[in-house]
Amino acid sequence: MAKILSVQARQILDSRGNPTVECDILTSAGLARASVPSGASTGAHEAWELRDHAKPFFGQSVMKAVENINKKIAPKIKGKNPADQRAIDALLLALDGTENKQKLGANALLAVSLANARAAAQAAHIPLYQHIKDVSGTKKITLPIPALNIINGGKHAGNTLDIQEYMILPTGAKSFAHALQMGSEIYHALKQKLTADFGKIAVNVGDEGGFAPPYTCVEEPLEAISSVIDKLGYSNEVKLGIDCAASTYWKGGKYYLEGKGMTADELLHFYENLAENYPLISIEDPFMEDDFEHFAELTRHSELQVVGDDLLCTNPRRINAAIAKRSCNALLLKVNQIGTLTEALRAAALARENKWNIMASHRSGETEDPFIADLSVGLASPLIKSGAPARGERLAKYNQLLRIEEETKAPYAGKHFRIP
Ligand code: PEP
Ligand code: MG
Repeated sequence: MAKILSVQARQILDSRGNPTVECDILTSAGLARASVPSGASTGAHEAWELRDHAKPFFGQSVMKAVENINKKIAPKIKGKNPADQRAIDALLLALDGTENKQKLGANALLAVSLANARAAAQAAHIPLYQHIKDVSGTKKITLPIPALNIINGGKHAGNTLDIQEYMILPTGAKSFAHALQMGSEIYHALKQKLTADFGKIAVNVGDEGGFAPPYTCVEEPLEAISSVIDKLGYSNEVKLGIDCAASTYWKGGKYYLEGKGMTADELLHFYENLAENYPLISIEDPFMEDDFEHFAELTRHSELQVVGDDLLCTNPRRINAAIAKRSCNALLLKVNQIGTLTEALRAAALARENKWNIMASHRSGETEDPFIADLSVGLASPLIKSGAPARGERLAKYNQLLRIEEETKAPYAGKHFRIP
């Protein structure tokens, strides 16, 4: 039996240059490491990200979270067997003792929880995705459809687009590698189009590696991406998705798109029109994060995959509320919204039991840790989103999926993809 010999955390920087937490766990099987991402359009109901609010890094340093691991968590988990993820996570939750992890910080808890999963896989001499499959009881692994975010707006880019993410979903690819190839080709063809239309200023990129062109209308990116897909002959294989992150344009009871205020009912109609005019199959956070009712109306009235991100915050309690109200039909799974792997797996299990789709997700502030790639395979989640097919921290996940596909020859989820 492997035992945890030591736990060492440190502060590193994420893809936006902000501090985040990394944790090493040493067992007799070797060194296991994990790091924690961070959002920009964060949900109000996410677990607590502990920051120091002191002078270094303009208040963003995470030295208290690092110290909480090194001084408070490490002595309690030394000597434990990493194989029992539930027991390790239960211990982390007990040490924190608060509802939203504000005592030790969800960033401290998650770094340990994820590093422990890697340590357990190492000790068992199995890949991480296999360990996650075993822990979560997944029957058959698959390779996820990548939702590639190729135009950035909202809080992720220095342009005036209201919608945060414009994604392409190669549902009709033959394999993950084929999906990524089509995604890369569309990305580069779009780069050429944007350069021709606006000059090279338009191909600067946002936080997730997608282009940040000077479009101002919601529909312009859908039009541009669709035309590129058509030109490449991929219109049967590649569909579109958006993440509205609508809480960011909800102010004083109205939704402000393109400078015009709309009621929730008008917005619902606006989305229905988009779905009629473009090959849109997936819409995330179409309404503000507490509007379970309008989420439910859109789910009922459209054929869209309606994904809950800020609405659900990967929190089993909020997922249960959304199930009761039929608010959505897909879970965006972000491990740092909840703070431990066990709770994230519980969230995924709830989604699955209710026949929802699952989209494993990165954050806009990322590290080079590819954990969510293994998570998506181990859970057989039909989808993953990790930004554009560009920038190292985004490709870390997609490239890991290429390796896993080569190793396992597992089927691509696109073959059986359907909207619940
Ligand atoms: C998202 O909203 O889905 C997202 C990835 O952005 P962030 O990490 O900023 O919440
Ligand atoms: Mg989102």
